[in-house]
Amino acid sequence: MQASVINVGSELLSGQTTNTNLSYIARRLRRLGIVIARSTTVSDTEAAIHEALAMVQEDVLIITGGLGPSRDDITKESLASFFGWRLVKDERVFEAIRRYFESRGRTMRETNEKQARFPPGATVLKNQRGTAPGMVVEHGGRTIVALPGPPGELKGMFPQVEALLKKRRDDVPYQDGFLLVGRGESEFESDLQDLYTEHPDVELAPYASLGEIRYILLSHSKESLKQAKEAFRERLHKDILGRADDTLEGLLVAGLRQRSASVAFAESCTGGLVASRVVDVPGASDVFEEGYVLYSNASKSRRLGVSPQVLENYGAVSEQCAYEMAYLLQRKARTDYALSVTGIAGPEGGSEKKPVGTVYFGLAKAETTRTFHRIFSGDRQMIRRKASAYALSLLIRELQRHEA
Ligand code: ATP
Ligand code: MG
Repeated sequence: MQASVINVGSELLSGQTTNTNLSYIARRLRRLGIVIARSTTVSDTEAAIHEALAMVQEDVLIITGGLGPSRDDITKESLASFFGWRLVKDERVFEAIRRYFESRGRTMRETNEKQARFPPGATVLKNQRGTAPGMVVEHGGRTIVALPGPPGELKGMFPQVEALLKKRRDDVPYQDGFLLVGRGESEFESDLQDLYTEHPDVELAPYASLGEIRYILLSHSKESLKQAKEAFRERLHKDILGRADDTLEGLLVAGLRQRSASVAFAESCTGGLVASRVVDVPGASDVFEEGYVLYSNASKSRRLGVSPQVLENYGAVSEQCAYEMAYLLQRKARTDYALSVTGIAGPEGGSEKKPVGTVYFGLAKAETTRTFHRIFSGDRQMIRRKASAYALSLLIRELQRHEA
């Protein structure tokens, strides 16, 4: 099955906003075995929307943006004029929007009424994060889905779309996948080369983000999927940390909780990113004791007692410093594990021996302290994000090692 996506919004064409809704929708549809065959980005004018609609040939159309109350929000009206629909006020939706305003101490404006108008027969999609409901309309053998532009609202509503699309089609592929950290995508790809040829009826879709990569395996045959998964595991078991829908921070919190263990972080170049990712997980307080951002050399000595000789002889970005940060923190925080990160995020500060992207990690527990070293590529933010992913993966691996 194929889909077409139309993203409405002049801000998407002016360079003001990046069209993240498109990549999100593409990723989610792919899991349903639906491929985007066409995507169009158009300005907020009826003529531009009509032109884009005229080109659509696919079974599913997803159109985003322009469902708000303001005068330049004209998506539903443009759909109606193109397909010849009459928009009718849905009293229940109208009431829900009114309550949404009331619960926030605001009064509904008259312009919000148009957000409650739908073509007869439309399925209204609830929006918990805003006022603009979405809708799904079956028209001429095609499923037309309209969603609001704000990415948070769109994502919140997407499960409703998936449920409807799944019902519409009977050939949703079986799927499963893995989360990997450690090496680069190209290295994984070369390890997986023969898997692509040996399992031609399994689609392997990689999704790389900073420092982590997810592989989704899709197949219409349950048995083929099972075999491909086994082959995948065989080749990359050292790099697999979890399932594709796991997050690193989620795996870490779950792993620590399972062992009733606690952790503390001492971060330099990641500036609290590791701690922040862990705190994103509800219930992190069960396992996360404390985190320090120790940015200057002096603070590393003053707060943790990293020895001035180490800083002088080897520098703050060194195996020795990472070692001391983790070792000393574990004793100070009295946690089961302590993790340290120190590196050069750039763009300045690199040298021939320690180029930008050089990061050292320390992982301490009562009996042992180990250090790790990586060189990450990318700009400052990418390096910091990759370093935080790698740091989380080190402790996850440590916990999994003892599980096995
Ligand atoms: P609202 O009620 O907020 O007006 P809407 O459905 O009318 O909702 P738009 O007005 O089209 O949505 O967009 C609102 C904001 O959402 C935009 O200013 C932009 O920041 C963001 N946005 C819209 N479309 C996209 C997109 N395709 N990708 C990323 N962000 C988007
Ligand atoms: Mg709007």
